[in-house]
Amino acid sequence: MTMARRGSCACRSGIRYIAVDVLVGSARTVNRRRLRSGRTRGHRSMVSVAFSIYDIGYPRGIPDRSSPSRDAAVSLEDQIRADSLETGAFFARNGRLVVRKTGAPDRVTFTASELAGTDGTLFTHNHPDDETFSQQDIVSAIESQLLELRAVGPTLRHMMSAPGGWPSKTAFSRAFQNSVNPANSATAQMISSGQLDRQYARREVCHQFWCEVARRLSLRYSREKS
Ligand SMILES: [Zn+2]
Repeated sequence: MTMARRGSCACRSGIRYIAVDVLVGSARTVNRRRLRSGRTRGHRSMVSVAFSIYDIGYPRGIPDRSSPSRDAAVSLEDQIRADSLETGAFFARNGRLVVRKTGAPDRVTFTASELAGTDGTLFTHNHPDDETFSQQDIVSAIESQLLELRAVGPTLRHMMSAPGGWPSKTAFSRAFQNSVNPANSATAQMISSGQLDRQYARREVCHQFWCEVARRLSLRYSREKS
């Protein structure tokens, strides 16, 4: 299992925010609508941007420790989330540590022998750059039929599970390809409607991308400030 990262210009899943044309068109539409309603009359600013999860001071969620494996994961995540190197660990359903390893700043790689006994376990690891999952993270989750996949960074925690079972790699690949444009559109809409500052577009499109993949494959994906 490798938890690898692709180019630094895009997020770990390789998705780029490219919906500039959509963004401009939507922003103008929103502006005209607001002007007609009189809400922004007299203001030069088109859209006031909301406080987002990327901003300092956004309220932290209370971590879910409802099972032994999640409880163990949260404890480890508290230790590794600010590290400059990735550490990954597998926990059995009863919370027992199966294997733990530290790798490079952008990956931690397990050998086949180290992965023995990790099927059906919970895997957590840290992303020093606070990014969401990579494509390889999900492929690895499918291969190991993980109970849950988690990635924690300095301020964010990401979780993915498959209550109805993980998809085939073929189905995942199809959903991966088909989710890029919807993720860009969703991000552009958030910016144009004032829900998100444009500076966070690159990060948000990656999150929206996994939201879309999860929707298409009936996976459970969530993110929290922590
Ligand atoms: Zn990862």
